[in-house]
Amino acid sequence: MFPDLGIDPEILKAIEKLGFEQPSPIQAEAIPVALSGRDVVGQSQTGSGKTMAFAIPGLQRINANDRAVQMLVMCPTRELAMQVCTEFHKLIPSRKNVLATPIYGGAGYDHQIRALKKGSQIVVGTPGRILDFMRRGTLKLGGLKLLVFDEADEMLDMGFRDEIQELVDELPVERQTILFSATITKQIRNLIENYTRDPETITIEQRTLT
Ligand code: AMP
Repeated sequence: MFPDLGIDPEILKAIEKLGFEQPSPIQAEAIPVALSGRDVVGQSQTGSGKTMAFAIPGLQRINANDRAVQMLVMCPTRELAMQVCTEFHKLIPSRKNVLATPIYGGAGYDHQIRALKKGSQIVVGTPGRILDFMRRGTLKLGGLKLLVFDEADEMLDMGFRDEIQELVDELPVERQTILFSATITKQIRNLIENYTRDPETITIEQRTLT
């Protein structure tokens, strides 16, 4: 049950309002580990509830009084970035003064820059646009505490390896890292070795929520 996972009462209320009756298997396993601050590698598919498996603990670990970007979620496509941000927005009213912003290519800069300037602690985006904003100095990640790779295998398939490397090299070393991937290939194992520290690996057989 959700109340057994160590989730704050305010967030639990938001989950209840969404009508989620019980955590999916990936959520039941990943949420307590992520809340403990440990790195997580999760093997699971879309439809498994993987987004909430990192959104719930991530949201809980944000310091609402600090307007620095504290959590960065990298996604392979803008559709996924928007979808992930929508999941955050379902819970965010439970955390006063916390904001989540999607940033992705193929759209104008102004709107995204304005959203970032409001002091978004959570940024969800595609590697190319994240790097672009970092280079322009629009996105400052010196205060980052949590990095998430969502659909890491898709990101590599889309050719984002170099962007990912350049981007992660700029991030604080003292951070928590969560990586989700449907498959764990040799290349994904390289990412895990390079960018996580002593992660707990969670593997969930394909099973959809709907
Ligand atoms: P995902 O696998 O993260 O793409 O999530 C698939 C869908 O399941 C999303 O619409 C979520 O809002 C929904 N969902 C996530 N967790 C639960 C849950 N514990 N119970 C019911 N639906 C959920």
